[in-house]
Amino acid sequence: MMEEQIRARGIKDNGVLNAMGKVPRHRFVPEAYRSSAYEDRPLPIGEGQTISQPYIVALMTELLGLSGKDKVLELGTGSGYQAAVLAEIVKEVYSVEIVQSLSQKAGAVLKELGYTNISFKVGDGFNGWKENAPYDAIIVTFAADEIPPPLLDQLKEGGKIVIPVGEEGMTQSLILGEKKRGKLEKRKITDVLFVPMQRVH
Ligand code: SAH
Repeated sequence: MMEEQIRARGIKDNGVLNAMGKVPRHRFVPEAYRSSAYEDRPLPIGEGQTISQPYIVALMTELLGLSGKDKVLELGTGSGYQAAVLAEIVKEVYSVEIVQSLSQKAGAVLKELGYTNISFKVGDGFNGWKENAPYDAIIVTFAADEIPPPLLDQLKEGGKIVIPVGEEGMTQSLILGEKKRGKLEKRKITDVLFVPMQRVH
């Protein structure tokens, strides 16, 4: 995985390479998929959700330009894999998941693996997690029609957000935004395919 998928496609950030090499991805996928855990594709994690392809996890993480002092917000905990990769690099990770059973399962695996710098919340990630704001970086792992406005408020000046944007059923664009003078400067990185954001009604 590291040679053929991550390094070969140009991931260079040492923190990201270390984290991707260290986090045991097979612990985050259901038993039935263990033998496929390091393959070049997303995998089902239950509840109709997926753990992203390894390269996409590495790319999104690298785009944030993280350091060991950072506080990061992740929306869409899912299996907890992305949270573990972040937790290897930064000081604190805050992760919000709308499906309670997924949040609990991820929390249990991450505890078993010894992570102590990840906090979990069950709720609608559209609203971010105000109590711990502002964040140095925000990563969204579901697709949204637009960048949820509360996230801009919760991002530090100079902070970065990476998010798949696109309407349901359409191609999504992976967008990298940087907050400059209170506004987001946006850049499209590549086309992606993520599960759509769910809302609480
Ligand atoms: N980062 C995850 C991948 C998650 S897939 C990993 O590493 O495994 C996207 C996740 O977003 C799913 O678990 C889904 O339940 C969750 N999700 C969808 N809509 C959401 C919302 N509005 N708020 C929070 N989480 C949401």
